[in-house]
Amino acid sequence: MPPVPKPTSDHYDMIVIGGGSGAMGVSRRAAYYGKKVCVIEEDGRLGGTCVNVGCVPKKLMWHAADIAEKLKEAPEYGFGDSVDKPKVPGFEWKYFAEKRDAYVRRLNGIYDRNLDKDGVEYISGHGKLVGKNEVEITMRGEDGQMNAGTHRIRGDAIVIATGGRPVIPSDDKIPGASLGINSDGFFALREQPKRVVVVGAGYIAVELAGVFHTLGSETHLLIRHDKFLRPFDPILHDTIAEYMDKTGLQVHKSTNITKVSGGNGKPLQIETDKGETIEADCLLWAIGRRPNTDNLGLEDVGVKTDEGGNIVVDKYQVTNIPNIFSIGDVQGKALLTPVAIAAGRKLSNRLYGHSDLKDDHMDYDNIPTVIFSHPPSGTVGLSEEEAYKKFGKDQVTVHQTKFVAMYYGMLEHKAPSAYKLVVGPGDKVVGLHIVGLGVDEMLQGFAVAVKMGATTRDFIETCNIHPVAGEELTSMVFDGKKP
Ligand SMILES: Cc1cc2nc3c(=O)[nH]c(=O)nc-3n(C[C@H](O)[C@H](O)[C@H](O)COP(=O)(O)OP(=O)(O)OC[C@H]3O[C@@H](n4cnc5c(N)ncnc54)[C@H](O)[C@@H]3O)c2cc1C
Repeated sequence: MPPVPKPTSDHYDMIVIGGGSGAMGVSRRAAYYGKKVCVIEEDGRLGGTCVNVGCVPKKLMWHAADIAEKLKEAPEYGFGDSVDKPKVPGFEWKYFAEKRDAYVRRLNGIYDRNLDKDGVEYISGHGKLVGKNEVEITMRGEDGQMNAGTHRIRGDAIVIATGGRPVIPSDDKIPGASLGINSDGFFALREQPKRVVVVGAGYIAVELAGVFHTLGSETHLLIRHDKFLRPFDPILHDTIAEYMDKTGLQVHKSTNITKVSGGNGKPLQIETDKGETIEADCLLWAIGRRPNTDNLGLEDVGVKTDEGGNIVVDKYQVTNIPNIFSIGDVQGKALLTPVAIAAGRKLSNRLYGHSDLKDDHMDYDNIPTVIFSHPPSGTVGLSEEEAYKKFGKDQVTVHQTKFVAMYYGMLEHKAPSAYKLVVGPGDKVVGLHIVGLGVDEMLQGFAVAVKMGATTRDFIETCNIHPVAGEELTSMVFDGKKP
């Protein structure tokens, strides 16, 4: 259902500012408990970053890249002419981008209907706190402009779930920086750039560089330090970096851009502090995100933020003002969709649920996550270093293995698999870090085991599945007793 033309009430049990992942979680769960809830979204479509410019379109691009790899490998599996290898069909970026966007629009519609079905009111506009219990909405008009008047509504609980947005350096800092795009701009591309420079060392930079490269763009990844994915266990970086090197994705270590020129139909000239100039058709900044707190009224009402501008909350998602809560990316911790959703649902459980849910809150330990790199990688729990710090080096054992998945056994070209188990006191598996074919779909199950406190004995006692890559994880800790 489309948004309401104006709020249907001047009082709600819960007002949610933002209409992304966190908002869906908290609002629908509150409505389930019979509460009167509204969601205010300024973007003109529901779903937030994940649906519109994040997880969903990103994963579709990764699938397209994955197919490009499989098409290259198909002749060696007997498809086409094994002597004169068939030409791999070109990738129609524009066709795919339009199809992908149509899918995203379908999801927007599903989100609308889900709110409607659950009785959550959807208001299209910009929300701003004007009191501890009061929000002013500047309504979005049919022309997409915020020109349809203002309304004030009151709420017993107010949840700030406004997410974040990508940053790019200012032109003052790096002349010509604004000639580049950010991750939102990646999804707006209608043509595949032939040569791309991606700047950043986080998972978004690694994923988007991987997509460009696998789909055939000449790709440069510029990183400030000597490694990317630094918050993760180094097995991820080391395995992916080696594969990038082998496949020709050019990683420029300890490199900063000093100037960008060109553009307007001409190639970009990207100068670095290494004294080189890289010519490219697209420059993509993936150097971080900042919380969406502009014009939100936080200062007026006295909601505390940290030095990065993130809203400060306790473990129950409560800000320094008891009836104002914050969930998801805007509170700066574990910027992932399932975290935002779970934190939202748990908040509503705690506020409105049965008595056994009165302590419900998001546990920020052992959050599993997958990076859609090439090959994909995944991680849950502590890195080796974190485990040493937490338990002391003598209390930690590390098991690791590197191998080539059977799929590549048939191929000339091989992609690596590398797995690591970090084991803490009591033989408990406290970290699991995996790279290679299929790990994206493998991690969820192993994350349950780690969350439950599985020991190496549990891994040993679990019967293998054969022949799958995952059996390496249940075989690599071998004490002579594998059944
Ligand atoms: C390229 C990319 C890839 C990603 N891939 C993954 C992935 O694979 N897996 C994963 O788990 N996570 C991924 N993420 C992260 C994930 O998208 C976010 O963690 C998640 O969307 C956060 O949800 P949220 O509800 O906190 O914020 P958002 O989803 O960003 O929603 C916030 C909403 O609030 C609205 N808003 C802001 N201010 C106001 C206001 N004042 N009034 C009204 N509305 C307002 C915004 O328009 C936005 O729609 C990715 C992110 C990016 C950028």
